[in-house]
Amino acid sequence: MVDQTSADYPKLGMYIDGEWIMRADRTHAVINPANGETLGELPLAGAADLDRALAAADRGFRSWSKTSVDERARVLRDAARLLRERVEIIARNATREEGKTLAETRIETIACAGLFDFYAEEARRVYGRVLVRPAGQRSLVMKVPVGPVAAFAPWNFPVHNPGRKLGAPIAAGCSVILKPAEEAPASAMAVVQALIDAGCPSDVVQLVFGVPDEVSRHLLASPIIRKLSFTGSTTVGKHLMRLCADTMKVTTLELGGHAPVIIFDDCDFDRTVEMLANSKVRNAGQVCVSPTRFYVQEGIYDRFVAAYAQRMAKMKVGDGLAPDTNMGPMANARRPAAIADLIKDAVGHGARIRTGGEAIDGKGFFWQPTVLSDVPNTARIMNEEPFGPVVVATPFATLDEAVEQANRLPYGLASFAFTENARRANLIGDAIEAGMVGINTTALAASDAPFGGVKESGHGSEDGPEGLAACLVTKTIHQH
Ligand code: NAD
Repeated sequence: MVDQTSADYPKLGMYIDGEWIMRADRTHAVINPANGETLGELPLAGAADLDRALAAADRGFRSWSKTSVDERARVLRDAARLLRERVEIIARNATREEGKTLAETRIETIACAGLFDFYAEEARRVYGRVLVRPAGQRSLVMKVPVGPVAAFAPWNFPVHNPGRKLGAPIAAGCSVILKPAEEAPASAMAVVQALIDAGCPSDVVQLVFGVPDEVSRHLLASPIIRKLSFTGSTTVGKHLMRLCADTMKVTTLELGGHAPVIIFDDCDFDRTVEMLANSKVRNAGQVCVSPTRFYVQEGIYDRFVAAYAQRMAKMKVGDGLAPDTNMGPMANARRPAAIADLIKDAVGHGARIRTGGEAIDGKGFFWQPTVLSDVPNTARIMNEEPFGPVVVATPFATLDEAVEQANRLPYGLASFAFTENARRANLIGDAIEAGMVGINTTALAASDAPFGGVKESGHGSEDGPEGLAACLVTKTIHQH
């Protein structure tokens, strides 16, 4: 049971077969990235816990898949209401665990509630079709829930990621074993608690934590699990997809990106600078769709990079709980170390630091908002996802040249373009290889629109009708 009335950080646990398990042989220390302090000790699952979760999920699927859509919708709607009622406590704990600002964790909690509401409605629109044949014969094409889902959610959206992993499968009639990131457990616990309080049966949702590779190997080896849903790096996604091959599981993989941003000389200059600065500092750049590779048309290149660097330098970096903070710390000690390596390498390849470039002294994992210009493609940062508050800027001359650079990498998650010319907007929208393109906007996520990538950024969508379809399989009954 997670106390949703207290402002204190909760005691941490797993939820398996209707029981909150608050003790285990092994634990993981959860750290506040703003000050390095330990928030709590998280119990980690062993093989017996995972087997118990699998047995519950198996049972849960059998009953939930036969439960009326009205009841599934009611649970999701009630859970959405509880999330809204509890937003202040949930957001505060999410900020303590992950670092991002309170404004951001409030928004993602409300977005999670919105997603549950959307799927409560969308669950009613799972249609089949009837093929009418001669002499009373019929063929029925039906969409049925895929089965128990193993879902692994990362730390960067500690509330919304678990919500994404739970909303669509529950609406579709699946059971779920969720393993959120060990860095941000209380946020995921709060989402699960809202579902339980809304009357979700205890065998429909299982919440486990553990050593990630141990948990995924154990769960994905089981024939009980019929689908994997993973958000995280491309490297781990490929590894998990291989583990799914033996039992031929369905996969939805939302993996890394390296979002190109094509800024034409006819863009709305001030608005573009402001929007891209605010978007870049969101969650300290640790967002899979964060705008990163800026290709700026040569006529405005110098002016744009100077204005952008100046705006980024003004961002206030600090504890996400402080009301005037624009950007919190990075989520864990791995991130600043990785960013430091990439920047050093880029400078070694001739990149110029226009602002930032260094860690901020203190106990937390803070990094300065950073802009690098004139970065050659040979630098690692032009090829590897930085996943931090760093922008790399390069000039381009023609639309074709910009498209070639944008599509150069094996990633294909988010891309952006800024232009006031409608023809350019159409051409660029068509030419970019990405699951999502933002033209004159950086807002790509909405409960009713598919979110996902192509190429090595993964496959399958979350959100929208497509997210529900990804939890269903097709069954055809021929009746003679
Ligand atoms: P990582 O690759 O070690 O882990 C990424 C996520 O996958 C984490 O949540 C982790 O718990 C999980 N994970 C790792 N190994 C796993 C396994 N064998 N089975 C199941 N889950 C596993 O990297 P990290 O240091 O935590 O994050 C940095 C990198 O991860 C970034 O470079 C970025 O590419 C990627 N990432 C992407 C997203 C996204 O939204 N697509 C979110 C978080 C991290």
